Amino acid sequence: MLADYHIHTEFSDDSNEPMENQIRRAIELGLDEICFTEHVDYGIKKDWEEGDITWRGGDGIGTPKGSMEPLANCNYPEYFGKLVRMRELFKGEITIKQGLEFGIQSITVEQFQKLYDRYSDRLDFVLFSMHQVDNKEFWTQDFQRGRTQKEYNELYYQEILKTMKLFRNYSVLAHLDLLVRYDPAGVYPFELVEDIIAEILKQAISDGKGIELNTSSWHYGLSDTQPSRAILKLYKDLGGRILTIGSDAHSTKYLADHMHEARTILKEEIGFQEFCTFEHMTPIFHSL
Ligand SMILES: [Zn+2]
Ligand SMILES: [Zn+2]
Repeated sequence: MLADYHIHTEFSDDSNEPMENQIRRAIELGLDEICFTEHVDYGIKKDWEEGDITWRGGDGIGTPKGSMEPLANCNYPEYFGKLVRMRELFKGEITIKQGLEFGIQSITVEQFQKLYDRYSDRLDFVLFSMHQVDNKEFWTQDFQRGRTQKEYNELYYQEILKTMKLFRNYSVLAHLDLLVRYDPAGVYPFELVEDIIAEILKQAISDGKGIELNTSSWHYGLSDTQPSRAILKLYKDLGGRILTIGSDAHSTKYLADHMHEARTILKEEIGFQEFCTFEHMTPIFHSL
């Protein structure tokens, strides 16, 4: 079973890739299953139905420089509508699952709860991602600015733990050490945050949740996997079994990027035997 469980399309503010392109590319690559996970980031982005959307100049990954991005979440009715059509169109060729990437914070839990309740009958899979703290973005350095590396790392993980205790309608923790991607000071030593990461992983395991291996670490040029091998190993040692693999592709170029390498690392370096796909928020285990 080959499955990419973290994919963006035109329904994410920072991607222009039509959904059918991602599907055709996945079929070309021989994938059995894909799950779309479009962005929702309450606090910094509005829902389309609220109207009065502002736009910003785009220079994010997968977005051509100079283009504009709407400060808007996934357009849910259009997204789920298109998924129905695509699932019908590509039936028998590939399995297409319906997911969202919740860029959640402790201050936006209520909005995500409402969203989840509204679409729970449609959703197969939800990524728990922390992209901002107190509405301050990491990729712009707004969150890190004015803080020491120790301060922003500790605050980031504390905010994840706090939010996990408030919100449980998710499947896996996405790119758990995301801050590494945007840290001008380099990789913060694992040992210094091991205790809080262990608490996060124990919480996820006891809640029946998992973690994601995000293969975009390769194209971001990170020196380790995301999350790091140390975190993956700790998760396994603590008894964690639920694990998904996702490319976080915002264009066809990165779809299933380094997936085979990722699987080999999980199996041969870390010692996992299985990974998961999801259906109606329930994990299904497959051998690696
Ligand atoms: Zn993300
Ligand atoms: Zn993503």
